[in-house]
Amino acid sequence: AENLKKRKIAVLGSRSVGKSSLVIQFINNEFVESYYPTIEATFAKSVKYKGAEYDCEVIDTAGQDEFSILNSKHAIGIHGYVLVYSVTSKASFDMIQIVYDKIIAFCGVTDIPCVVVGSKVDLDSSRQVSPQDGEKLAREINATWVETSAKTNVNVGKVFELCLAEIEKRAPQTGEA
Ligand code: GDP
Repeated sequence: AENLKKRKIAVLGSRSVGKSSLVIQFINNEFVESYYPTIEATFAKSVKYKGAEYDCEVIDTAGQDEFSILNSKHAIGIHGYVLVYSVTSKASFDMIQIVYDKIIAFCGVTDIPCVVVGSKVDLDSSRQVSPQDGEKLAREINATWVETSAKTNVNVGKVFELCLAEIEKRAPQTGEA
């Protein structure tokens, strides 16, 4: 349909934080314990948000390092970013700022539509990153923050809704130059 809006969303973050699991849960509504990623994978799903239908293309950096996607053909035309850390890994959390800085430098802009995701919240007993730290970082980079579990399907759809919201927030308003 011609009222279908295309939105390209890239999912980035350290290895093993659960990027593929998050994407697979979003696309297929399942948690696959042993999902073997190939290289990069792109997935499509249409999402209703605020009365409009969005044709989302989700790019998973499966099996590659955090930055490889920025140099790939998939990087062209990305509208929004989902930056994932695991609440059980302080190292993966520290990586978020580095990935963010890299995107900013790569895109040559000062602000990008971005959602910071603390994953694996079902593993609360192994938590290394507090919700407060997650929220604070997100505020500093002008992003939205949310905690999720791909395993127990907590806030998975929400991640992509929030990303659409971040994208729409920055989209030029009708009537403006
Ligand atoms: P990726 O390398 O970032 O794509 O991470 P994967 O999606 O391959 O997940 C890495 C590991 O974490 C796998 O063993 C997953 O089963 C596990 N995992 C992913 N998401 C969750 C989650 O929400 N909860 C738990 N407990 N484990 C998860």
